[in-house]
Amino acid sequence: MSTDCVFCKIIAGEIPSAKVYEDDLVYAFRDIAPQAPQHILVVPRAHVASALHVTEENSHLAAACFAAISKIAREQGLEGFRVITNCGEEGGQTVFHLHFHLLGGKRLGANLL
Ligand code: 5GP
Ligand code: ZN
Repeated sequence: MSTDCVFCKIIAGEIPSAKVYEDDLVYAFRDIAPQAPQHILVVPRAHVASALHVTEENSHLAAACFAAISKIAREQGLEGFRVITNCGEEGGQTVFHLHFHLLGGKRLGANLL
């Protein structure tokens, strides 16, 4: 756990969150400032700073996030959705704990930006 990381604190239960899903490797909760009717953050329990820090040694954590995304989407009845990870300040990342935004609940346009 990284002591100054807001997502580590959420995973540890030190900051409240609206849990959507959890397993041994993954925790998922609703974004505090939703940008779609369904906006869920899917994060590995272990602290990995960003997509730039995914390695052959820890990539099973990213894979576990995607397995969770599939389960969550089915549970939430999302037929179509978008998964985004912001990486680095230039990539718009504000919380430096790897996370995947799962966005859906409305028809999304084809443009990414
Ligand atoms: P990023 O900009 O790093 O890709 O995404 C960080 C996301 O975390 C943002 O969408 C922001 O709304 C969300 N967020 C930041 N702090 C909290 C918090 O304390 N609780 C929850 N549920 N979401 C948070
Ligand atoms: Zn963290």
